[in-house]
Amino acid sequence: MYQSLKKIIKGFMPSGFLNKNETLLRSCIAFFYKGGTYQCNLCGFKLSKFVVTENFGSICPKCGSISRNRRLWTLIKDTLKNKKVLHFSPSHSLKEQIQKANTKEYITTDYLGEFQAMKKLNIEAIDEPDNYYDVIICYHVLEHVAQDRKAMQELYRILKPNGVCYVQTPFKEGDNYEDNTIVTEADRLKYFGQEDHLRIYSVSGLSNRLQEAGFKIDVLDYEEDAKNVLGFLKKESVIIASKN
Ligand SMILES: [Zn+2]
Repeated sequence: MYQSLKKIIKGFMPSGFLNKNETLLRSCIAFFYKGGTYQCNLCGFKLSKFVVTENFGSICPKCGSISRNRRLWTLIKDTLKNKKVLHFSPSHSLKEQIQKANTKEYITTDYLGEFQAMKKLNIEAIDEPDNYYDVIICYHVLEHVAQDRKAMQELYRILKPNGVCYVQTPFKEGDNYEDNTIVTEADRLKYFGQEDHLRIYSVSGLSNRLQEAGFKIDVLDYEEDAKNVLGFLKKESVIIASKN
């Protein structure tokens, strides 16, 4: 229903209006999902069901948040006060909450102009000082980066001692899968799962690479939660990379 409602609304409203009024549009769609079984922990909306998609799992119809954003929020929400936070490729719903979290400094960054952000930083050569950020969010970024080892060294460099970098990418079982001869969009989609992905990491493969860059690694592996009020993916892993 979510997709057909979106289609109907897009059919009779000009796109400029829609971009400016996304919040209004979402509120209209969310009306049909109102209920008391589930709740989005980012916008607070209580709903009868989430919008379920194949690629992203459950989407909140009101704020557009996906599982990984809601899960990350449960991890970081009480840790951000007076912290300097750098957020790569920031989703709108998560960004809105972090902006209200009394951080000391909150910088959002995007390289390819796909997300609304304050700075354009190249993760392979980050134009930020050493030992600066307390918290870095680097979700679904590294699989797009050619020199990913360099990027990890850069993340380590700008993270403060005792700082924490939250890392996630799509994951596979076993080892990382990487092949520099796979270069066309069609092949990348076929072998890496998306046209602009350059590899698929495994949790252990990415953890090892982050360790090589100097990070200490903790992995949080989530399994299905029977109640699942917050609409999380059945399985999800988050890598917590910290600096001593
Ligand atoms: Zn929401």
